[in-house]
Amino acid sequence: MTIIGIDLGTTNSAVSFWKEQGSVMIPNALGHNLTPSVVSIDDHGEVLIGEIAKERQITHPDMSASVFKRHMGTKKKYRLGTKEFLPEELSALIIGSLRQDAEHFLGHSVHEAVISVPAYFSDAQKRATKRAGELAGLKVERLITEPTAAAISYGLHLRNADTKFLVFDLGGGTFDVSILELFENVMEVRAVTGDNYLGGEDFTDVLTSLFLKQHSLNAGQLDRKTLTLLRKQAEIAKRAFNESKTTTITCSIQDEVYSQDITLDEFEAASKHLFHRLRDPIERALNDATLKIKDLDAILLVGGATKLPIIRSFVSKLFGQLAYANINPDEVVAMGAGIQAALKGKDAMLKEVILTDVCPYTLGTTVSVRKAGYHESGHFLPIIERNTTIPISRVERLYTLHDNQKVINIDILQGESRLSKDNIYLGELNVPVPAKPAGEEAIDVRFTYDVNGILQVEVTVVSTGMKKEMVIEKDPGHMSKEEIVRSIESLSQLKIHPREHQENRLIMARGERLFEEKIGDVRLEIGQLLRAFEEVLEKQDTRQIKEMRNQLKDIFDSIDTKGGF
Ligand code: ADP
Ligand code: MG
Repeated sequence: MTIIGIDLGTTNSAVSFWKEQGSVMIPNALGHNLTPSVVSIDDHGEVLIGEIAKERQITHPDMSASVFKRHMGTKKKYRLGTKEFLPEELSALIIGSLRQDAEHFLGHSVHEAVISVPAYFSDAQKRATKRAGELAGLKVERLITEPTAAAISYGLHLRNADTKFLVFDLGGGTFDVSILELFENVMEVRAVTGDNYLGGEDFTDVLTSLFLKQHSLNAGQLDRKTLTLLRKQAEIAKRAFNESKTTTITCSIQDEVYSQDITLDEFEAASKHLFHRLRDPIERALNDATLKIKDLDAILLVGGATKLPIIRSFVSKLFGQLAYANINPDEVVAMGAGIQAALKGKDAMLKEVILTDVCPYTLGTTVSVRKAGYHESGHFLPIIERNTTIPISRVERLYTLHDNQKVINIDILQGESRLSKDNIYLGELNVPVPAKPAGEEAIDVRFTYDVNGILQVEVTVVSTGMKKEMVIEKDPGHMSKEEIVRSIESLSQLKIHPREHQENRLIMARGERLFEEKIGDVRLEIGQLLRAFEEVLEKQDTRQIKEMRNQLKDIFDSIDTKGGF
């Protein structure tokens, strides 16, 4: 039975499977390998996924949701019209749509998947991802981290020599840096860092800002629709840099068409602040892995935004070597997940790799520090440092602070800040100790973090040997068995828009978006075209529908790029 590999991305998702010699991407109903991770519900309660939902997000923001991966593993509720969804439920709808595409492509049903997750995902986030797969009716025995999936795509796991490499993943709104090492068949994640709020979208913003500045316009003066339109035009211009050193942004604002040529050099100069922000996590990752740039054997580019020529030149300048980029960077994770799926199904072509993991955050407790003549509490004492390979167990000895102190309070925190108040509170233990002069009683605090991301804290009173322990499975988004059953039930009651009609639906959604964006004659014309298309749809003549759909596509492309017919 085919096991599929899924890249469940913040911006885009994709699916692949292993076929004889390698991983193959599976196109969606519109013939595209990427499905935007956007969900929308229409007036009839029908669920739309991917590109159609992305168009509707502009015309019907209250009925649509995107970037929910950011909140995976939390109880955040997304309201779409009258219905509410958890992040894993919205993800389940995306996975369900990819599953349908795979079943259509393969011609048989699919029951199992390997899904990729960011290397920094906590256990709660990983479990929520697994649950999303299960809510979509798929068995998910294995998750694979995104950088590992990319590495497997490039066949790095097949190398015999010790290899250290860095994965540079710039997606839509997130930047992930991972350093991995392959040593004697074991692929070890050595460091994971990144910036959760830096991605290709920031480079689009640079272009919009250049445009606004050139025309002495202020973003605050423009309404939401005009801004959305401008961003869309900037996105088109950004992608045009793949082929040319100059692009043009054209956008009609309040009935006047504005246009501006931007060169690659100007774009690069205006993105300087972003390059600074890219550099920081890279330095941190190298530092955490105790490596120098020259120790890296390879750099892998992952994520759609690494297609930007200014990113490629930044990477080759910084690392002094060309990055691996011959696999499409926005497909490389899905391809790797597909290979891992085959590994799981034990395809003889593949060599098994053992994957190890790291603890993504620092875990520690609070201590007081001695200042001139007094103690100041609230200082964070790291016990397990971030990027330590797991499983791991570490111990710290702490002493009483006051004479006749009867209890030592141990709070358990996660984070990187110097002061405890700025870190995340996970729990606390109060440990009774014999009353003695200050500093004469001590406790050993042991933190153990296992392969499943479960933290166990054990405190031992040194003088008496008394122990107290606590297990922390921080999972705020945990769903009970009953909740899962209820969720599957309510998801299965949703009407999903049939895949056969998606192309027509996309043209209508796009036309509706353009109708809202435009004014005057262009708008009237769009209205007439949409009405004519509706009439053709009613006649149900497939050939005529296809012809008109293609015509409309050309017209809408021209409106989107040139602002008019
Ligand atoms: P994620 O992993 O966040 O789901 P992707 O890897 O699909 O995201 O990357 C999406 C980002 O890639 C978007 O910001 C998009 O603008 C950018 N992108 C996609 N194709 C190109 C291209 N040809 N040139 C420049 N940027 C691109
Ligand atoms: Mg991605």
